[in-house]
Amino acid sequence: MEPQGEQAVRLGNFYPPFGAGKSCLFLSPRHCVRRRAHGARRRVSDNKEGRMLGRIHSYESFGTVDGPGIRFVVFFQGCPMRCRYCHNPDTWAERGGREVSAEEVVGEALKYKRYFAGGGGVTATGGEPLFQLDFLLELLAALKRRGVHTCVDTSGICFSEADARYDRLLALTDLFLLDIKHIDDTAHRFLTGRSNAAPIAFAKFLSERGKRMWVRHVLVPGLTDDDAALVRLRGFLDTLANVERIEVLPYHTMGVQKYRAAHAPYPLEGISAPAAERVDNAKRILRAGKYGHGGGEL
Ligand code: SF4
Repeated sequence: MEPQGEQAVRLGNFYPPFGAGKSCLFLSPRHCVRRRAHGARRRVSDNKEGRMLGRIHSYESFGTVDGPGIRFVVFFQGCPMRCRYCHNPDTWAERGGREVSAEEVVGEALKYKRYFAGGGGVTATGGEPLFQLDFLLELLAALKRRGVHTCVDTSGICFSEADARYDRLLALTDLFLLDIKHIDDTAHRFLTGRSNAAPIAFAKFLSERGKRMWVRHVLVPGLTDDDAALVRLRGFLDTLANVERIEVLPYHTMGVQKYRAAHAPYPLEGISAPAAERVDNAKRILRAGKYGHGGGEL
């Protein structure tokens, strides 16, 4: 049975990114983000005072894995990707979450400012934060005015070099956490429903502009742990400047219950978390760890 009504909205406009699906399972084609122009400006609504509003899924007050130190993590609503391993499908729907102003988010974050002292700050993640770029810029600017360290965790999928807003994004972001999901374009499309052209272009853009970045790669048995692909990914990373850290994130099945609750098929049914030796193998090939600006391990 397909999810209906609120249940469908909660899980987002799910569609199988496997090539067969041309329309959403959950929402009408009019609401399917895949039909919309990539990188197009998202609609941003205003409240009564004329302040810009964005859509936020949730917050995490003491994040320790999304950037340095202790971080207030802001989960943006909306994502144009459909990764088979996604454990946050409830962030997909563009119209889900709740509307907030940047000042409201900053007010929440600043409650925890005393914990930011050891290098922490605020991380924007999702969903896909670049999907609401105007709101993200407003939030980052408000945080920088208060001297807060900012991270953006992104797949880079919305990037367009022709969009001048990305210059401002770089100026307002201290550190990027860039997810490179697969170095091979065909495999990337199979895994996420989208080409990897924009993520690769965004990685080069950050490198050319000298922006600090940590690169992350989710390891899924049979999908993203092929040695030859990992070697190619390592070769690409070697062409980038300012990669300070590479993280291998083992796939896990914690999102299964969200699919069950929405009566949606789980895309990776039967695939388990990678064995420890496969994780170690990927870390060895990618030379995962911390790096200095010159590329040497710290
Ligand atoms: S980019 Fe992130 S939020 Fe979007 S589908 Fe992939 S894993 Fe899920």
